[in-house]
Amino acid sequence: MTTAITSGIESRLDGQLLRPGDDGYDESRTVWNGMIDRRPRMIIRAASVDDVVTAVRTARELDLEIGVRCGGHSGMGFAVPQDGLMIDLTPLTGVRVDPAGRRARIQGGALLGVLDRATQRYGLATTAGNVSHTGVGGLTLGGGMGWLARQYGLACDNVLSYTMVTADGEVVRASRTERPDLFWGLRGGGGNFGIVTEFEFRLHPIGTRTLVAEYTFSLDKAIPALKAWRDLNAEAPREATFTADIGRDDQATLGFVLAGDPERAGRLLHDFQSLGRPTATNITEMSYTDLQRREDTVERHSLRRYSKGHYLRQFPDAAIEAFVHRGASDGDFRPSVGLQAYGGAIADVPDEDSAFSHRATLFEFGTGTTWIDPADDEIRTAAARRSAAAMAPFAQGVYVNALSDEDTAGADGVRRAYSPENLARLVVLKDSYDPHNVFHLNQNIQPSTR
Ligand code: FAD
Repeated sequence: MTTAITSGIESRLDGQLLRPGDDGYDESRTVWNGMIDRRPRMIIRAASVDDVVTAVRTARELDLEIGVRCGGHSGMGFAVPQDGLMIDLTPLTGVRVDPAGRRARIQGGALLGVLDRATQRYGLATTAGNVSHTGVGGLTLGGGMGWLARQYGLACDNVLSYTMVTADGEVVRASRTERPDLFWGLRGGGGNFGIVTEFEFRLHPIGTRTLVAEYTFSLDKAIPALKAWRDLNAEAPREATFTADIGRDDQATLGFVLAGDPERAGRLLHDFQSLGRPTATNITEMSYTDLQRREDTVERHSLRRYSKGHYLRQFPDAAIEAFVHRGASDGDFRPSVGLQAYGGAIADVPDEDSAFSHRATLFEFGTGTTWIDPADDEIRTAAARRSAAAMAPFAQGVYVNALSDEDTAGADGVRRAYSPENLARLVVLKDSYDPHNVFHLNQNIQPSTR
């Protein structure tokens, strides 16, 4: 039965059907987090919207679990279903820019770097994440935080329309005027409602220049420096996104990324003297596309990874201490921790305007660890969990795309990621678009009818 169905679809595909052992099968199922090693029964590498429709219908006919792959960055490897059907969107990378109309249409399997490169040819851009090999699909559907968000909103705030394949294999469009309920839900509701084959983005004339400022402090100087950094953040211009990281080397690096004319950084650079005397300073101008690729190597594919996150509405002194200590006792392994500022245009949008919730967030906190040897899995994940637990008392919510744990990515996780009102509305939408929860390998909104 399976063979009869699959041999029939193979001839209809613009892309490829891959089974275990086929050339390209292992490449397609390999995702960013080296801990994920799942083997789909089949993979459809979709090269057209029709292929996506065929893939959804085939999976339903064969009763196979569906995984949807764009950039493959889901830390939990949601894209790869064990023994299911993986719909690999990576051949769908087409992008069309309308510089006069300040619009870009990009297909649902493209990486952020494709979007940035295409739009920067005209000095334009829209909000995208900080690593260019992240997928436009997963990032935008969860919200999409990046260096332009404080000026222009999250990636999802800049989507004008979506083209989506539903669980029934129907192709629909959603915008403010077409299916506005679905448009609302796709702005932060993740991959719960269907497979987006095209995003239409609004673009902004950002030019091509940026500046990164980083001030490094030894750990014993980190607490007063972080207090001054926090206070300066309250007055920061929207072009500047404050960042703070403590790495495995126990050095605290505090600073900001300015997406725009570096001349605009003068006042902030002066004010950063209030942080104290750093052990090292790095003030670097770079192009926007270089900024967007800056972390690509550190964040490369195939290493073993574990991370957790929280949203913080405030950053009181006690939270600063917890951030620096990272939940570790003397001698314990300490994971990296980081903060990135929200605010500005993100908070201009009321929470009820889109599924994305927690717009009053001040900083997003993340803790993570990277390693190679599977023997270290337990010690590494335990350390990151302790570090996240130390910050939990100060947290209000979490970024849905940062839910990364077996025990928290389910119902409890989505309850943390959305306001109760938005979650209730998402369930209504799920009931309407995917009542059988065909799309459940994600931060899942469970239908009420299940
Ligand atoms: P995938 O694993 O391919 O997809 C994840 C899930 O998204 C899929 O399982 C599916 O449910 C859904 N999905 C993907 N594409 C589609 C589609 N076209 N239609 C329907 N559903 C789809 N987030 C930020 O906001 N800002 C950042 O700067 C940022 N940086 C990151 C850097 C790294 C190195 C990593 C690993 C993650 C980062 N993230 C960031 C988090 C990121 O947004 C999520 O991991 C996101 O899910 C990645 O999307 P993807 O397409 O690459 O992943």
